Amino acid sequence: MAQARIGLIGLGVMGANLALNIAEKGFPVAVHNRTTSAIGDFIGTAGDLAASLVPAMTPADLAAALTAPRAIIIMVKAGAPVDATIDALKPHLDPGDILIDAGNADFNDTRRREAALSAEGFRFVGMGVSGGEEGARNGPSIMVGGAPEAFAEIEDIVLAIAATYQDAPCAAHLGSDGAGHFVKTVHNGIEYADMQMIAEVYGILRQSDGRSPAQIGALFEDWNGGPLQSYLAEITAKVLAATDPESGRPMVDVILDRAGQKGTGRWTVIEALKLGQSASAIEAAVGARSWSSVKDLREIGQDRLHGPQSSDPGPILLDADLERALLAARVIAYAQGFSLLAAASDEFGWTLDLARTAEIWRAGCIIRSALLDDIATAFRGDLPGGSLILAPAFTRLLNDNIGALRRLVARASLSGQPVPAMAAALSYFDTMRHARGTAALIQAQRDFFGAHGFERTDRDGDGYHGPWGN
Ligand code: NAP
Repeated sequence: MAQARIGLIGLGVMGANLALNIAEKGFPVAVHNRTTSAIGDFIGTAGDLAASLVPAMTPADLAAALTAPRAIIIMVKAGAPVDATIDALKPHLDPGDILIDAGNADFNDTRRREAALSAEGFRFVGMGVSGGEEGARNGPSIMVGGAPEAFAEIEDIVLAIAATYQDAPCAAHLGSDGAGHFVKTVHNGIEYADMQMIAEVYGILRQSDGRSPAQIGALFEDWNGGPLQSYLAEITAKVLAATDPESGRPMVDVILDRAGQKGTGRWTVIEALKLGQSASAIEAAVGARSWSSVKDLREIGQDRLHGPQSSDPGPILLDADLERALLAARVIAYAQGFSLLAAASDEFGWTLDLARTAEIWRAGCIIRSALLDDIATAFRGDLPGGSLILAPAFTRLLNDNIGALRRLVARASLSGQPVPAMAAALSYFDTMRHARGTAALIQAQRDFFGAHGFERTDRDGDGYHGPWGN
């Protein structure tokens, strides 16, 4: 007999916490997991909330436990497991039932699944969820894509479980098919850039200036009280203050310097390039994680590759400079991410509301920061080319702080300290402030070797050729 308003498959870290969050908000949840022993284990540790959890040992049990139309959240490992889960469920569903993929799906998969399931009479919602374990349990930021009518069936639940910012839920329907998962992917891309830029500033302070993790942590704690206020600055301060209970050393010093990645950063870069964009600060951050994993090469390189010979350390960097540089670079990373969202929205016909997107990132998600309120305001105004760096508030912010980023990149370069994401951000800024760039020479080269033709500055039309005589 139907007992639950919503079902959930996948009792990993995210699914289990999301199920508890839903149950706590007063919605009975039927839960299933491929490895069925996890179902009883989960309910056994749910305390008072166990009364709102309905165990379903098979996909058929899950279907039988749900009121119509059925709504089932799939929170399993992204990729083939999602398809396997959908295939296992389908024989037990009726037309109009709604499947909600809340994992970190590639939005191309979401578009494919949405089209295939719609053709079979089912409804499919691609729902990006950010905030990790803590967010899933107490309120994540939720980015929804799919048919608006499908979202309407689950909207009350989604809004109830989301994080809130000044009482407004950090959840929204953003567009059709893959819109939610695309926005979640770009969210993660921005997260990669922000984390990398923070690590680059840490590198300067630690490796060039020789400060201790605790000193650097205190600086981040201080910065977290100003314009850099953000979840990532806050946790950086805490991480740098932590000591390894076993060795007594700073925790960060006993962690191997090889960063993992699960794909969303890489997808951001791939999609940016496919859309003719470049999210260069995000690309630098993804690349830096890849470089981090070739530790054996870096160990050889440390002996063989020379750093700067000069004793000139470059411009003096004050702590305030570092704060300002990080702020400018962070704005540029966001700007690149939002430009990518705008390009995808045009390409896929999503009519993404960029202001609303910034608003639902203000709480619950990993990139929540003080900047997002201003970003939302900027997108509600008149933005030339949809470019955040041209919004008056951000143009002012960048013009005020770009000198610090310039000094940081110069100093890092002269002292041999890598800052790939900060340097990429600065080059983007410098490119965007040159009305005439250097691509005329690229066009001339292309015409020289491939007769590709070019446009002229003094005449209309294209297809002109140079006097190369070849
Ligand atoms: P996960 O390790 O990615 O996935 C665990 C769940 O997937 C388990 O329930 C597992 O079932 C199930 N599963 C794996 N392969 C399966 C298959 N072939 N068929 C059916 N089920 C299968 O766990 P997670 O960290 O909770 O993440 C879940 C999703 O949320 C992922 O898409 C992840 O990228 C996304 N996400 C994670 C975070 C985070 O901070 N962890 C944040 C946001 C989004 P068994 O118990 O049977 O193995």
